[in-house]
Amino acid sequence: MRGRQLAVAAGLLGVLCVPAHAEARDIGRDTLPANDGWAAEGAGTTGGAAADADHVYTVTDRAGLVRALDGGSATPKIIKIAGTIDADADTDDDGDRLDCADHATGGYSLKKYLAAYDPRTWGSAKPSGPQEEARQASAARQAERIVLPVGSNTTLVGLGDSAVLKGASLQVKNAENVIIRNLDLRDAYDCFPVWQPNTGGLGDWKTAYDNIWLSGATHVWVDHVTLSDKGHPDAKEPTHFARTYLRHDGLLDITGGSDLVTVSWSRFAGHDKAMLIGNSDTATGDRGKLRVTLHHNAFESVVQRAPRVRFGQVHLYNNRYDIPGDDYRYSLGVSTESRMYAENNAFHAPGHVEVADLVKSWNGSALHQSGTLFDGYPVDLLSVYNAYNSGSERDLTADVGWTPTLHGRIDSAQEADRAVARGAGAGRIP
Ligand code: CA
Repeated sequence: MRGRQLAVAAGLLGVLCVPAHAEARDIGRDTLPANDGWAAEGAGTTGGAAADADHVYTVTDRAGLVRALDGGSATPKIIKIAGTIDADADTDDDGDRLDCADHATGGYSLKKYLAAYDPRTWGSAKPSGPQEEARQASAARQAERIVLPVGSNTTLVGLGDSAVLKGASLQVKNAENVIIRNLDLRDAYDCFPVWQPNTGGLGDWKTAYDNIWLSGATHVWVDHVTLSDKGHPDAKEPTHFARTYLRHDGLLDITGGSDLVTVSWSRFAGHDKAMLIGNSDTATGDRGKLRVTLHHNAFESVVQRAPRVRFGQVHLYNNRYDIPGDDYRYSLGVSTESRMYAENNAFHAPGHVEVADLVKSWNGSALHQSGTLFDGYPVDLLSVYNAYNSGSERDLTADVGWTPTLHGRIDSAQEADRAVARGAGAGRIP
């Protein structure tokens, strides 16, 4: 009896000695591991790891986040987001969510805008005049709230497993050495899309904001983030002028001579155009840049651009794709001078999507692929692409002119498939 009581007491003591939830590891000073993709080139990527104690912040609202970001200054800093921050909220203490009507100015209204630039009456000229001017002024007011510049030597992380930043566009412009991790970034919603009469030949709507936009950014590590439109799915938007009135642009766009980027263990979910690497065929300054590694990411219900690449040497390995049932366009976009090296990626697709649908080329010439799985079966994306498009387009060659050397362990597609399903996204840093 006595022995049993002791054992019970010891057991209780053991329980009491271990906290109910082990303290979450502080990831604020983590740096990119050696060799982990293109961002490990040269001096690697350390973000704000060198921050002194005065530049380590925990922020819980938009105003605190804006203060900590310090206008995109290069001072080493570590910013931890706790809980949910809505970037499209007022600066006053009540933190009320602003809506599009609060941003609108100059007499802008969607109804009047549609009436003014209806292609049947306005034609194909670029919109100009009072409604377009009002739209631009309104858009500038929204941008002031939701565009958050991230400067050099910054680490921005979520605290714990439920940090959310919504309604924001994080922009790393002409900056270097940045780490963004463990954050759920959702709904970079554009109140004021612009009608572009010549886009795609017959016109389309253009939205302004990416959840993350890298432009002229070097040495950037994006890890364990979740990127989505959660809250305002574009599928629910109406069409105007027979085009979907999209509210979101990219989830993570990498343009303007950005270079040396690693995107790992992240989730791209429920979105149209997920990731654009290189935004123009004529941006020849991107030549030799846009070197990006994408590994162990999940692309779930992404319509297109996962990624679409121009110019860049992109190493794409161990990613997992869940192709959407509706409106699917393609996954891998091979555009001007792109040199994508894809290995051991796993695709899952609904019945009507074929292997030939996964790759699309615009003026591309090469794609390396190996170890690809499609619904669990090995496939060769390149030979299927060339067979399917024979006669209509030029063949893609397998010679992309380089072999990746900066990378961690490359798993089989089958192993990666399971690991990514389990471990990619915010709140899942082991
Ligand atoms: Ca974009």
